Amino acid sequence: MDDRAFRNAMGQFVTGVTVITTNVGDETHGMTANAFLSVSLNPKLVLVSIGEKAKMLQKIKDAGHYAVNFLAEDQQEISMLFAGQIKDGRSVDFEWLNGMPVIPGAIGRVTCQVVNEYVVGDHTFFVGEVTGIELNDGAPLIYFQGKYRELASMNENETLL
Ligand code: FAD
Ligand code: NAD
Repeated sequence: MDDRAFRNAMGQFVTGVTVITTNVGDETHGMTANAFLSVSLNPKLVLVSIGEKAKMLQKIKDAGHYAVNFLAEDQQEISMLFAGQIKDGRSVDFEWLNGMPVIPGAIGRVTCQVVNEYVVGDHTFFVGEVTGIELNDGAPLIYFQGKYRELASMNENETLL
């Protein structure tokens, strides 16, 4: 099977869009990811899957922690920035939660300590125990067939919180 056939097939599965953020001391790093999963309720575990070529891989290993930021529908540019699809050298003013950088305006921000990592094919799963959660109202950014979308059924009167 060729790569395009696999990616086209996986693109039929709709997801939200996250930016994974971490820091080693004062040095922050972010990366767009849709391979995110809620794993366990007791204990409270999530996972992210990071490609072997991503700089984020070593950053999370060094930091031992990461945050997951669920992007809002008006944050497509933020997704493109942290996917390396916009390269204009702009800086990002992070907010901070539990000592980790997080994205302002994200509809959910979850901080985690890494408790396990597994190399799986050309990716590494980082399982994180959740240490903090912060939710904000708003509609999610959607990813489907390699394109950004909005949730058609949500309107102004429908809030999440
Ligand atoms: P870089 O490519 O160096 O950084 C990414 C970009 O973020 C750069 O443009 C950089 O300027 C910017 N950036 C980073 N830190 C900062 C900062 N502190 N301030 C300002 N800008 C900063 N890859 C996966 O491994 N797993 C996934 O689940 C995944 N899902 C994706 C989903 C979508 C919708 C898209 C579009 C891409 C996805 N990718 C995923 C691909 C991944 O986002 C890119 O390969 C990304 O470029 C890898 O980032 P990097 O860590 O190698 O760092
Ligand atoms: P695309 O058509 O390449 O992706 C569609 C779907 O295929 C994605 O949502 C994902 O589920 C899967 N996919 C794509 N690349 C993958 C990879 N390297 N490993 C595992 N699954 C992958 O969409 P696009 O808009 O062309 O993607 C933009 C860039 O972001 C591409 O370079 C793509 O490889 C990368 N990306 C990587 C991942 C990932 O590593 N998990 C996920 C999404 C996108």
